[in-house]
Amino acid sequence: MTPYDATPSQARSPLIDGFGRTVTYLRVSVTDRCDLRCVYCMAEHMSFLPKAEVLTLEELDRIASAFIALGVNKLRLTGGEPLVRKGLMGLVESLSRRLKSGALNELTLMTNGTRLAEFAAPLAAAGVRRVNVSLDTLKPELFRTLTRGGDLAKVLAGLDAAQAVGLQVKLNAVALKDDNAAELPELIRWAHARSCDVTLIETMPLGEIEADRTDQYLSLAAVRRELESFWTLTDIPLTTGGPARYVEVAETGGRLGFITPLSHNFCEACNRVRLTCTGTLHTCLGQEDASDLRAVIRSGASDEDLIAAIRLAVDGKPKGHDFRIERAAQPAVRRHMSTTGG
Ligand code: SAM
Ligand code: SF4
Repeated sequence: MTPYDATPSQARSPLIDGFGRTVTYLRVSVTDRCDLRCVYCMAEHMSFLPKAEVLTLEELDRIASAFIALGVNKLRLTGGEPLVRKGLMGLVESLSRRLKSGALNELTLMTNGTRLAEFAAPLAAAGVRRVNVSLDTLKPELFRTLTRGGDLAKVLAGLDAAQAVGLQVKLNAVALKDDNAAELPELIRWAHARSCDVTLIETMPLGEIEADRTDQYLSLAAVRRELESFWTLTDIPLTTGGPARYVEVAETGGRLGFITPLSHNFCEACNRVRLTCTGTLHTCLGQEDASDLRAVIRSGASDEDLIAAIRLAVDGKPKGHDFRIERAAQPAVRRHMSTTGG
């Protein structure tokens, strides 16, 4: 039993921000490290955080548990690459207790898939039902280029393993004008044929990288127009409280999501906050707002103090983000996606 199993009832009123939005979804980045170096995500030579700055698995569990006590019912582990974090399964197993108790509706993971072949079975055994796998291309050479050295075969083996143990797999693909734009219909068709939903993502101006991101920016409105020239796309009212809008593709029978942070405003219904692996809480992906929960817990704070710090941070959740493509050559936010978590 953790302290939160016995949290007093006043701590259990929901987390509501200053604009009346209820926060029910937490993304937790468990590491800033990764075995790949995707060109739009990381610089080729990244300097990673010293270990002492990264929360221990127990600290991550403590903060996540406080959010669950406050009504967060969906939790996604991300990174960096979550499956490179040593001991991750211990955290997954600990959090899965909240699935069993009913406090948590869903525990998911976002991964590049390179280690999924090894982890699919233990994840499923711990109660994970769904994983998001990032995959931008089915061409081994292009995959190697985009990830700076990755092996596509490992990801495909990971997908097979995940589906073999009954995990639902959703694919995320970043739409890149020069690299994979022409391949997207084939990627979508392939994914739908193996019962995977696909979500397309526009590149976001997060963190300094070598390339000028406006070069690779591809509007998903343009992608949708192109797809509609040969497919029938029907809007479906599926909403996750996030920036994705979904359609059904009549010809493939699968679902396709569009995440358009630059060209579409999705902030009114935002239900999510993000915890970095250093314990910084970001209540908006596109703003510099930050609350240091690591300082709170490492100062010996009580659970009530931690809950108060979380409430204060959520109360200040910004109304909306400030991404604009004309400014996207410069990062709108200095931290990388791998720091904040996708
Ligand atoms: N390593 C895991 C993975 O790749 O799925 C989880 C973390 S990764 C940062 C989460 C998602 O963010 C991936 O789907 C990745 O493609 C996406 N991403 C990273 N940098 C991005 C950027 N600058 N713009 C848009 N999406 C980005
Ligand atoms: Fe690693 Fe994911 Fe970033 Fe690619 S997108 S470098 S896999 S964290």
